[in-house]
Amino acid sequence: MSDCVTNDFVHQLDRQYVFHSWSSQGKLDPLVIAGGKGCRMWDYAGKEYLDFSSQLVNTNIGHQHPKVVAAIQAQAETLATVAPAHANLARGEAAKRILERAPGPFSKVFFTNAGADANENAMRMARSFTGRDKILSAYRSYHGNTGAAIVATGDPRRIPNEFARGHAHFFNPYLYRSDFWAVDETQECERALQHLQRVIECEGPGSIAAILLETIPGTAGVLVPPKDYLQGVRKLADQYGILLILDEVMAGFGRTGRWFAFEHFAVEPDLVVFAKGVNSGYVPTGGVIVSDAICRHFDDHMFFGGLTYSGHPLAMASIVATLDAMRDEGVVENADRVGNGVLAKGLQQLAADHAVIGEVRGLGVFHALELVSDRRSRAPLPAAEVAKLKSAMLAKGLLPFVIENRLHIVPPCIVSEAEVEQGLAILDEVL
Ligand code: PLP
Repeated sequence: MSDCVTNDFVHQLDRQYVFHSWSSQGKLDPLVIAGGKGCRMWDYAGKEYLDFSSQLVNTNIGHQHPKVVAAIQAQAETLATVAPAHANLARGEAAKRILERAPGPFSKVFFTNAGADANENAMRMARSFTGRDKILSAYRSYHGNTGAAIVATGDPRRIPNEFARGHAHFFNPYLYRSDFWAVDETQECERALQHLQRVIECEGPGSIAAILLETIPGTAGVLVPPKDYLQGVRKLADQYGILLILDEVMAGFGRTGRWFAFEHFAVEPDLVVFAKGVNSGYVPTGGVIVSDAICRHFDDHMFFGGLTYSGHPLAMASIVATLDAMRDEGVVENADRVGNGVLAKGLQQLAADHAVIGEVRGLGVFHALELVSDRRSRAPLPAAEVAKLKSAMLAKGLLPFVIENRLHIVPPCIVSEAEVEQGLAILDEVL
């Protein structure tokens, strides 16, 4: 069928019938994608793109990994769907593999359909476990676009909801645009923790069930926290009997060069929220890794959570195959070596050569370039300029991930040094 399909045909079909997410429908001009392999995607005219977006920071193992595709096919032939209440081999194997990779006091995995509902369920677990109501989360964050997850989200896309019950926000560290007038990382860390303690005290420690944080806020700008910040948050949480939920939907499963980003900060959360990289998004899924103490609580308390497709067998089979392939092919090690090596150095070199880059930050294959019109004032590059850069990159075959005035440099974890160099050369030309 695809032999006679053209870019124009698919574009028209989309514009006529598809209602897009996060957009006003009249202004859309979506890029047509026909296929992909590894770090590359292409359209129906054969134009190829190097995917430095990982499709919303998702395809850690790249496009069309043959073992993952085969595992989904095999599962579809055996049992294409099964209700969450049944015991199922693929689901058990998927949970076991996730727990084998998660360092900490975890004993079970709760599966969901995506990242947002994983956050919903983590918050519900925390509320039930503590008997408290409030969730504290960061202003600079994204936790998903469902009821409670979007209220927990603090970034500028947050849907205002003054009637939301049981949520409060705090400022998390972002030294480049410090909310604390800090001049270095130590000051930013100390002041952010003092501020968080103040918020806890003002909101009433006895009413707070959990602090929900992305280990490294992704959509908000790949904000790698100061090295002692998360340990400080953990201490405050313990001091007030509050749970710590780390959202690793974007940062987890290899992206930072570790299986989990919290491994960089020697901190143990009570609940870990995941999605995306766990199976590179081949089939929608997500989940919550649950500590032993919380699991024991639910031995004799009802948990009111779950959807028809939770732990769907096609998703579970893809998790098993993805995590096995990542282990066998050294994908996490590759993200560490290439991401913290040639990619990080190359981005620093770009910043040295181009005044439009105000800051480079990140870990592994999880980086962001902060684009500014003036380095001294740090004024964000205007949207029209950013849009021009984006078009120029696409014209040269680089698929970027652009958010506000930032270029998020997030290729798949399998990216090779040669592919990074090709992408950096395009960035260099365009900037
Ligand atoms: N949490 C984080 C940190 C995310 O980055 C995202 C999505 O980008 C979500 C949650 C929501 O995940 P989903 O879109 O799968 O619901």
